Amino acid sequence: MTESRIVVLGAGLGGTIAAYEIRQALGNRARITVISKGEDYWFVPSNPWVAVGWREAESIRVHLPPVMARHDIAFDGQGARKVHPEQKQVELIDGSFVDYDYLVIATGPDLAFDEIEGFGPERHTVSICETRHAAEAHAKFEELCANPRPIVVGAAQGASCYGPAYEMAMTLDTELKKRKIRDKVPITFITPEPYIGHLGLDGVGDTKGLLESEMRNRHIKWITNARVDSVEAGMFHITEVNRDGSEKAKHDLEFGWGMLMPPFRGVEALRGIEGLVNPRGFVLVDEHQRNPAYPEIFALGVCIAIAPTGPTPLPVGVPKTGFMIESMVTAIAQNLKEIMAGKEPTHEATWNAICLADFGDGGVAFVAKPQIPPRNTNWSSEGKWVHLAKIGFEKYFLRKIRRGESEPFYEKLALHVLGIEKLRFE
Ligand SMILES: Cc1cc2nc3c(=O)[nH]c(=O)nc-3n(C[C@H](O)[C@H](O)[C@H](O)COP(=O)(O)OP(=O)(O)OC[C@H]3O[C@@H](n4cnc5c(N)ncnc54)[C@H](O)[C@@H]3O)c2cc1C
Repeated sequence: MTESRIVVLGAGLGGTIAAYEIRQALGNRARITVISKGEDYWFVPSNPWVAVGWREAESIRVHLPPVMARHDIAFDGQGARKVHPEQKQVELIDGSFVDYDYLVIATGPDLAFDEIEGFGPERHTVSICETRHAAEAHAKFEELCANPRPIVVGAAQGASCYGPAYEMAMTLDTELKKRKIRDKVPITFITPEPYIGHLGLDGVGDTKGLLESEMRNRHIKWITNARVDSVEAGMFHITEVNRDGSEKAKHDLEFGWGMLMPPFRGVEALRGIEGLVNPRGFVLVDEHQRNPAYPEIFALGVCIAIAPTGPTPLPVGVPKTGFMIESMVTAIAQNLKEIMAGKEPTHEATWNAICLADFGDGGVAFVAKPQIPPRNTNWSSEGKWVHLAKIGFEKYFLRKIRRGESEPFYEKLALHVLGIEKLRFE
C-alpha cells in the first residue's frame, strides 16, 4: 500500500489537533508532516490571563516536536513562504520545497494592525492575539498599575473575534479591583459592533442584555459603531457612526493601556493565490472543507472565508471558535479517510459555536446552533461556574495537545462541563 503525503500547514489550535486526528483516522496509510512557524503550541484562550499576570506564558506552552514524533508525524518549524497549489508544493522560508498529495491549511490569522495608523504592539497599543504579545501587554499593565491612567479596550473595525475583547475588559476590572486601584483607572470599551453583545453573531441568547448589564455593574463605559481613525501615543481618535455609516460623533480617548482586537486577513503565504483565497487571503472551502479549485486542499479554523451574518454600519466579521474548529478537523480527517477508500467525501463540520467568556470572577457562556441566526439553539447564561469551566477548559485542552490525543474535546465540554446534556450537537 502506498502512503499518501499529507501536509498540515500551521500548528495552532486547529492544525495541531488536525495532525493528531488525521493520524488516528488514517493510521499508517499517511505520511504526515506538520509545517508551522515556531516549534511551540500556545494556548491562546489564556492570553487575557497572561496580560494581567495570572498565567506565565511558559505555563501555556507545549513544545511540539517530541509529541509529533511520538505519533510518527514529521515536524518543521521554519514556516511556509508560499503555497504552490499547481505544483502541489509548499515552499519553506529556507527556499526548499515540500511535496504533498493533500494539504490541510490551518494558518490562522495574519493580524492586520498596519491597516490603522499607529495601531498595534509595534506602535502605540498592546495585543493579546499572540502569547508573546500578551506577555508584553502584562509588562505595560504593571507600568499602568504603578502610574494609574485610563484603559481603552475592545475591537477595531473589521475584527472577527470579540469574545477576548469582552474577557479582557472584565478581567482588567477584576484585577484592578483586587489591587484596589480600580477607582483610579476609568475603562472604556470601543467596538464596531452595532450593539454590545453582537459578537459578530448578531447576539446569542441574551448576550446583549447580559454583557451590557455586566459592563454597567463594572462601570465600564462603551461606544458601539466605533471606527478607529488613528492612534497616537496615549490617544485613540475614534469616529462613532450612524446606522447608515455617516459620522455621528468624534471622540479622542486618552489611554495608558490600550488593546483592541485587530482586523484579520489571510497569511502572506496564501494571499493572492487565484482560486484558493478570497481578496482578504482567506481560504475558500465548500461544505466538506475542501477548496473548489484545488480539491486536494482542505482548510480549517480562522484562515477560512466565512460571510458576515448581515449588514452592519461598520465591518464586523464572524468569529471562528474552538468548537467549530474542532468539528472542521473531524470532518477533514473523515473526508480524507473516505477519499483514500476511493469514495467521495461526505462529512461536514457542524458550524455550531460554544463559548466561555471568562471575566476572572464569573463569566458568560453561550451556545449557538447553528452559529448563524436564525437558530435551533440560542442559549446564554452567566455565573461563577463559567470562570471555573474556563480553568477546566485550559487544563484539559493543554493535556490533549501534550498527549497528542485525537478525541474531540468541545463536544465533551458541551455535554458534560456545561451540564446541558439535553442539547445534541450532531
Ligand atoms: C486572545 C484570543 C482568545 C481566544 N479565546 C477563545 C476561547 O476562549 N474559546 C474559543 O473557542 N476560541 C477562542 N479564540 C478563537 C480561536 O479559537 C483561536 O484564535 C484559535 O487559536 C484559532 O485556531 P487556528 O488553528 O485557526 O489558528 P491559530 O491557533 O492562530 O494557529 C495558526 C498557526 O499557523 C501558524 N502559521 C501562520 N503562518 C504560517 C506560515 N506561513 N507557515 C506555517 N505556519 C504558519 C501559526 O504560527 C500558528 O501556529 C480566541 C482567540 C484569541 C486571539
